Amino acid sequence: MRALIEIGSYSVGDWEKDRALQSGVRLRCPSCETDVPFGPYEHPRGDGSLRRYRGCKMCGFWQEADGRSPPFRCVLTVHACVGWIPDGQLCSCCSQRGPVDWHLCPRVLTEAEVRDESYTCAISGAVVRDAHVIPWGIEAP
Ligand SMILES: [Zn+2]
Ligand SMILES: [Zn+2]
Ligand SMILES: [Zn+2]
Repeated sequence: MRALIEIGSYSVGDWEKDRALQSGVRLRCPSCETDVPFGPYEHPRGDGSLRRYRGCKMCGFWQEADGRSPPFRCVLTVHACVGWIPDGQLCSCCSQRGPVDWHLCPRVLTEAEVRDESYTCAISGAVVRDAHVIPWGIEAP
């Protein structure tokens, strides 16, 4: 396992390179050095722009593709999500597809979000806290 401090910044150019490589080779996490499930991801922000980052669902290594942010360690949480998701709709937390009236809802959060209990699941209203943290090493969806 490599320490986060040894890992340099990650730019949008690096992200695009990883995206291009991803179809042909298995990218390795720079921290735990396993190849699954690690990769570049993108996620729409509220303002319509895209957040680009890379993340490892094996050890919680996470890094923004902005060319300057140091990597950080995320935590994996799961809660029993009680709430109706209609047919064809997705859980806003974990992308579980409806119809379901409850499901186990995994979510990657920062340590600060868990500590401050600042993440609330939009489906069930559950506040995710440290009691919901589970170990890394299983493949989150
Ligand atoms: Zn890793
Ligand atoms: Zn939930
Ligand atoms: Zn969910």
